[in-house]
Amino acid sequence: MIKVFKFGGFAVSDAESVKNLVKIISTTSSAQILIIVSAMGKTTDALEKLCKSYVEGNNDVQEILKAIKHFHENIMIELFETKVHPVFDEIANTFVEIEWMLEDEPHPDYDFNYDQIVSIGEFLSSRIVASYLNENKIDTKWVDARDFIHTDNTYREGIIDMNKTRSSMPILKNMLEKQTVITQGFIGGTSENFSTTLGREGSDYSAAIFASCINAESLTVWKDVPGIMNADPRLFEEAKKYEELPYSEALEMAYYGATVIHPKTIKPLQNAGVPLFVRPFLFPEEMGTRIDSTAKLNTDISAIIVKQNQMLLSISLKDFSFIDEHILIYLLQIISEAHIKLNMMQRSALSLSVCFNQDETKFNKLYDTLKDRFKCKYNEGLDLLTVRHFKRDKLDTILAGRTVMMEQFSRNTAQIILQ
Ligand code: ASP
Ligand code: MG
Repeated sequence: MIKVFKFGGFAVSDAESVKNLVKIISTTSSAQILIIVSAMGKTTDALEKLCKSYVEGNNDVQEILKAIKHFHENIMIELFETKVHPVFDEIANTFVEIEWMLEDEPHPDYDFNYDQIVSIGEFLSSRIVASYLNENKIDTKWVDARDFIHTDNTYREGIIDMNKTRSSMPILKNMLEKQTVITQGFIGGTSENFSTTLGREGSDYSAAIFASCINAESLTVWKDVPGIMNADPRLFEEAKKYEELPYSEALEMAYYGATVIHPKTIKPLQNAGVPLFVRPFLFPEEMGTRIDSTAKLNTDISAIIVKQNQMLLSISLKDFSFIDEHILIYLLQIISEAHIKLNMMQRSALSLSVCFNQDETKFNKLYDTLKDRFKCKYNEGLDLLTVRHFKRDKLDTILAGRTVMMEQFSRNTAQIILQ
């Protein structure tokens, strides 16, 4: 059976972590292993900056690029004894691809530029890790994720063509019979052979697609946390780790903003019945959290999820008409066209209040459409608190001293917007 292991940016952030990754692979017995990696450390952020500078025609493009090159070079120098190792050429060639692009005029579609540039982070990391695995006698084949994950051309949020993706997987399964295979998370390819990305932090999702399409025995994502916690330990002292969680609960938690797993990750695994393990990269002997259909949910533990940088927008008609169903449909339509994802909404007679992640560009787009007919009032920099399986008395303790802007309670879930 095949095990899929996904290592995020944290697990490939420096030479030490790459060594730890190799140790994890070499101590995993028996199974065939497919490795999915993210870009190293904060490389994706740096590449985003590079793309922005390039498109805006700023003069720091070369400087940003140089820093990204140095970062990878330093890791390679620590991992490989001599600079004549072929990996140095492979990495140089990967950079050449975007260097050519950076010499040309930007494509008019920002998101297209973004995907061609930002996707190289994963190419760099997978090349380096593949070489280091081979260096350590783990026979590993590097493959291009774009040959397997097929998407449409919605740049920055590529939509996966599941039929095409599924039909390319037998080749990968064959490879896995002979060798360990490594590929990139986060990226896919269009039918015109351009790169797409699947949305920030999307490599968990890639790993889930791979694991479900090859019917893996399990997917393990190696993280910088002990497993899935009921709250962020940096914000809540008594945060506890779940030993197990049903898919449905993990899905709800990811939906409400638990950042440990990407929200799209669970569904493909649940459909294919592939268990997910969230395990601590630095303590690989610990089992972390298991997510599958047999797991029991302990509702004595409330899950507390805080989303920061929220915007609360109240929209009402300038002529004081009711927000009826027609207006609601219209408003939701333009919200969706501005690519805004709502985290909470509430309607009253004269207004619709919506809460979403603060994003100036998206908000301005929405505001431009609204401003003639609607009155808009908004607050920025808010926290959205979601509590699953809430207990009223505990909630009061959490809310003490905070100003509540809007709240909503369903049977299992409390959502509260706080100033
Ligand atoms: N490297 C990408 C990002 O940082 C994808 C990922 O890490 O999942 O968003
Ligand atoms: Mg990452």
